[in-house]
Amino acid sequence: MSNHTDISYHPSHLNKSILPGQSTVEVDETGVSTENGPSNLSKSLSSMSGKHSRRGAVSKEIVDVDTIWKACAYGEFEVLVELVEQQTRQEKTKLNHTARDILDHKDDQGHTCLQWAALNNRVNIVSYLLEEGVAVDAQDPTGQTALHWAAVRGSLESVETLLRGGANPAIEDSKGYSVCHVAAQYGQASIIYHVYMKWGINTDMPDNDGRTPLHWACYKGFRDVAKLLIVMGADVMKMDTEDCTPLHWAAIKGHTDASMALLQGGAEDALESTDASGCTPSQLAIDKGHRGLGLNLAEYRYHRESRQRNSQSCSFLTRLHLAPVIWGIIISMLVLMTITVILPSRQDGSMFSTSFVGVSIGACVTYISAFIGLVFLYKTTVADPGFLPQNHLVQMRESNMMGKRCLEEGFGSTESSLDSPALWAGNWNQICVTCRIVRPLRAKHCATTDRCIECFDHFCPWVGNAVGKGNRHYFLLFLWIELLAIVASGVTVVVSLHRAIKASNKAGIGLSIIGPIFFVVFDMVLFISVAALAIAQASQVSRNVTTNELSNWHRYAYLRSEAHGDFTNPFDRGVQENCKEVCFPSLAPKPCYVLESSKKPSHGLGEKDTLME
Ligand SMILES: [Zn+2]
Repeated sequence: MSNHTDISYHPSHLNKSILPGQSTVEVDETGVSTENGPSNLSKSLSSMSGKHSRRGAVSKEIVDVDTIWKACAYGEFEVLVELVEQQTRQEKTKLNHTARDILDHKDDQGHTCLQWAALNNRVNIVSYLLEEGVAVDAQDPTGQTALHWAAVRGSLESVETLLRGGANPAIEDSKGYSVCHVAAQYGQASIIYHVYMKWGINTDMPDNDGRTPLHWACYKGFRDVAKLLIVMGADVMKMDTEDCTPLHWAAIKGHTDASMALLQGGAEDALESTDASGCTPSQLAIDKGHRGLGLNLAEYRYHRESRQRNSQSCSFLTRLHLAPVIWGIIISMLVLMTITVILPSRQDGSMFSTSFVGVSIGACVTYISAFIGLVFLYKTTVADPGFLPQNHLVQMRESNMMGKRCLEEGFGSTESSLDSPALWAGNWNQICVTCRIVRPLRAKHCATTDRCIECFDHFCPWVGNAVGKGNRHYFLLFLWIELLAIVASGVTVVVSLHRAIKASNKAGIGLSIIGPIFFVVFDMVLFISVAALAIAQASQVSRNVTTNELSNWHRYAYLRSEAHGDFTNPFDRGVQENCKEVCFPSLAPKPCYVLESSKKPSHGLGEKDTLME
């Protein structure tokens, strides 16, 4: 059994968030509030504050904002100014205190006005305090500054105001937590993204126990934060002082989502790694009562080993999946038709000897369309289905040659590839931790090809490739042209068979019709399956929707209407334009990262331009 205990941390502000000096928040063993989570507190504070200002004097009595710290926490600007003026008048006579001195005072727990205002995102008060010249990096007894507190509830505007006001983002508290540690502990992905992109803050610094923000995000089960940190280049194999990687901590707490994000993000080696007590993540999960996750991790480890063995013997034929079967079926059908119908029809004296123009035309149409269909099948198999460029680090990891090519093609650094409207809008689900990129809408990571594919439709084992923006038109053409071959060959053989049976009235039915009958039966089976697929694909193309989107639309916010949450397709531009988009992928609109109609940044700070100036 592992002797792991939970990571403990007690940022003191967590115990008394409602009012300065008042302890009302339940905390769990880790010090993180439980039922009254930070976000709930935020709401209750806002609503109380709103009541206060709406109802004026009545609510003031209820809330009783009688100290400068409470005024900061509740965002009571006028009350704050009034209190400061009162105290300045009182204290000036004896101590010659200025407003700044008053505002620099700490409450009975040692917290500053700036911390209380920053915690509750009272931006106007934060600005006022900074203008008055308060110490922006003043630390409380735990060593935390206002910047740490602003990260707790994701008060992004306060973070930005503090940093512009000269706050030092490198300050760590007594446990070694930076602002990014605190943001990771509370699942505030937007804070981490903002300080990394705009202020270039290191998001992979260890605390006093060697734990990075990624350790914390995984321990707390914040999958989005973990994904963001991974894609920013956090070390997924980093060990803390207990030799635990982030995967060990995710396993200890039973967080499946975070564990999977780590494994997809390259932490597979951690499956084998043992902590100070000699346990792997799988063993730890089982020890801590997360049996399902423990078994999943063990299975993942087993499959990984077998994948590694197979990859060494992975041949060209394996990569083609079932494509050779389709080739075999089409060619066999052509041969069968030739031997049983076409050749006999040319022989004088046989039951098919009544050579007629119809059979010849049918045969020609069949051969030509089957051949063209095979060309499009080949093109579907070998074409790039719309692979999105992976992060150069992933490419170099997978293949030195590919990495070289990627660098030559100039696929950018992590920072530039992360500067995406999707992330500024808080759409963390567009992060692919495997490719380490932000993918546009409609793209998906294909599990079989292990790459992100633009406008992903589905992976088709019969063509041995994924179908996406780059080869969907080839796939559609293959289906419809082969369908024509199936119909033409079927009609040809049925007509021939009919003549043969008529002829047999004179000569008796011979064994030679067994072949054509077998052909017709098999042709019917093929017709039903290919026609169903061809019609479904054509219908989807005309509506500009993919198979993946139709099956999983409820997972994609851009496919759900805001009003009722039912299916809506923002990419439908009319049948003609939709077909043009698929048939001429090079002319299709550029992939978009956010919808025009939904450019509502979840950060609480206008557009990226506002953030980036
Ligand atoms: Zn991907």
